[in-house]
Amino acid sequence: MKKSRLIIISNRLPVTAYKSGEDWLLQPSSGGLVSGINAWLATQKNFAESEFIWIGWPGSEIPELNQPVIQEVLMREHKAVPVFLNKHQEDTFYAGFCNRTIWPLFHYFPSFVDFSEKNFESYVEVNQLFANTALQIIEPGDTVWVHDYQLMMLPGMIREKLENLKIGFFLHIPFPTYEMFRLLPLQWQKDLMHGVTGADLIGFHTHDYTHYFMRSVSRSIGYEVNEGKIMTPNRQISVDTFPMGIEFNRYFEGSQSQESLKYFEKIRSEFKETKIVLSLDRLDYSKGIANRLLGFEIFLEKFPEWRGKVILYMVVVPSRANVDQYRKMKAQIDELAGRINGRFGRLDWQPIHYQYRSLSFPELTAIYRASQAALVTPLRDGMNLVAKEYVACQIDDAGILILSEFAGAVRELAEAVIINPNHARDIAQGLHTALTMSNEEKAKRNMAMRQRTKRYDVIRWVTEFLESLDQIKEEQDRLTGILLNEKDLTSIRASIKKAKKPILFLDYDGTLVDFFPHPNMSKPDAELKKILVDLAKVAPVCIITGRDRASIEDWFDELPVSVIAEHGIWFRPADEQWRRLKNPVISWKDEIHEDLKLISDRLPGSFVEEKEFSLVLHFRNADPEQVNLRIAGITDELKLRSKLYPIQILNGNKIVEIRAAGVDKGSAARDILGQWNIDFVFAAGDDLTDEDLFKGLPENSITIKIGRSGHTSARYRVSDFAAFRNVLTTIANSSSS
Ligand code: UDP
Repeated sequence: MKKSRLIIISNRLPVTAYKSGEDWLLQPSSGGLVSGINAWLATQKNFAESEFIWIGWPGSEIPELNQPVIQEVLMREHKAVPVFLNKHQEDTFYAGFCNRTIWPLFHYFPSFVDFSEKNFESYVEVNQLFANTALQIIEPGDTVWVHDYQLMMLPGMIREKLENLKIGFFLHIPFPTYEMFRLLPLQWQKDLMHGVTGADLIGFHTHDYTHYFMRSVSRSIGYEVNEGKIMTPNRQISVDTFPMGIEFNRYFEGSQSQESLKYFEKIRSEFKETKIVLSLDRLDYSKGIANRLLGFEIFLEKFPEWRGKVILYMVVVPSRANVDQYRKMKAQIDELAGRINGRFGRLDWQPIHYQYRSLSFPELTAIYRASQAALVTPLRDGMNLVAKEYVACQIDDAGILILSEFAGAVRELAEAVIINPNHARDIAQGLHTALTMSNEEKAKRNMAMRQRTKRYDVIRWVTEFLESLDQIKEEQDRLTGILLNEKDLTSIRASIKKAKKPILFLDYDGTLVDFFPHPNMSKPDAELKKILVDLAKVAPVCIITGRDRASIEDWFDELPVSVIAEHGIWFRPADEQWRRLKNPVISWKDEIHEDLKLISDRLPGSFVEEKEFSLVLHFRNADPEQVNLRIAGITDELKLRSKLYPIQILNGNKIVEIRAAGVDKGSAARDILGQWNIDFVFAAGDDLTDEDLFKGLPENSITIKIGRSGHTSARYRVSDFAAFRNVLTTIANSSSS
């Protein structure tokens, strides 16, 4: 059997193309994801090279003329497939919607957000471009793992074409609360959420982000969410927390390498007894660099004994220089550092040692090891790998981490000195605590953090994500394992034809028609009418619905079908009058009706429907969060009532129905089977009330659940009402075949 390939899709490829003179060259680009995937691949002994592909943007505009050669070299040497973007797309998609809209919004900087329509259009267009490239590469059976905020629409676009593909998505930045997310126009919210939920597994760094995401899914597109699961119309998908780790051994061993030691000695001989506080990040407003400088200033002010004895070794790595806010921020940092140096500096001591550049790996590990504290103060950060790398390099336990409570990493590095980066005094106090901490205390705290960082390293992160993806897919397969196929359908057609007295029991809403905001909007359409007419030529058709007979009085008048209404109280054989199958007690109705109206008043968007023998609270149009909060209480309250009255409570699809006890579709169907001497039953339905039907039928019946999620006792499943109409059309054609 062919092995499943792993296809990673991220905005950037692990190599960047750049022009040198007349030639185009490729340079490896590092980053947590690249090194993580490579480290993981190295552990996969049975994983042949041919089983791995990376799809992404090579990082610059490459003239069409040069694209074929670059494409060929990328594939041959790096197992990489490029998505070529032009300068305009780079500006509107990457610098535009990604870095001027999603990035600031998801990092809680709403005032920086640009709501440009043009940029959003470009985001959709570029995601589609990625999808087109990916779809040329992907084969059924592959595992596709899409990364980060640049490609949120991609899972949905791929899913549209490959329904059963295994797709994972991981967001490397924070997912904000709904109050932030809803600042986006509703249509954008919906498009992004439909895109992401095209994946089978969606991963985040922290439980908070996972939780916020689920709330936003429920609020923006109304999918049902519950304990890490999301019910999409076709599938049950999973959302979970996978804190990304680092390649621990690379840092731990790297900090002891000869090259690193050379830099380490150099730094130590330059600063001698002076304590070094490290500040290292990419230039970004989310990193809180200015706050850090202000904190350091207050520290020098409040604890004058440290003047001359400590320096802030500040490395700012250039980033996104084409976005306005970054340029402004750089100027602000330059100005602040200059001011603090001017205010406290002496001939023999400058408090801030400021460099605007990137570091080589040996330099990086050397400065991690050489500094007595690392001041990591993001205002928001998805994870923050610098914090973890610093911990991994504390082989002498000479330093301690000072960490913002707004970094994702804080969940795993709780032994750090934790500060709130919005308060300069808090930063100053944190610095004092770190610099006066005893060696034993530092060693104890570092040991705990180091072990955790080592155990949950990036290899484990990749492994756990991919294993969970396999599991969710298996779970889906279990649920959809009995999906009706061509062969089954052929044999069903034959059984119906062979039977002397067959009957087709068909539920209505969700089975023959889609759901609508109000129940009176779902009248049979022309297509359905034709299907029912044709079907009735093959076998008697009986619509079996929970609806009351008044609401559907004339819907099926001209159609050759029987109808069972109100879950089995009323029956109207084709071309005859309604007759009563059951006569339940309804003395409870007025009182419960009043109760339901009170509940509905407090649940805006909901309404109560009164049927002859039941009452229904509809909440399809209510705020899903309020529903989630209240529904358990409402059902409990009603269950208490059911002890006093002969009623039963049914939780249906966005409804709760209270109906007379002893009435259900199963018992109604059995009445008909007895009266008509039926010898073969075909039954289909989509919700809990249809489960009564399935359970109540003879064993040789063909039962079909419409929808891919939720448990069922039906023998087969069909994904949705539209697919079921196709099934019925095929059966209807039996008459002519
Ligand atoms: N880093 C780098 N070049 C440097 C200094 C640091 O590539 O000159 C690396 C650093 O080792 C870390 C990453 O950049 O792995 C920064 O990751 P982090 O999660 O801290 O922040 P991000 O920049 O992804 O927001």
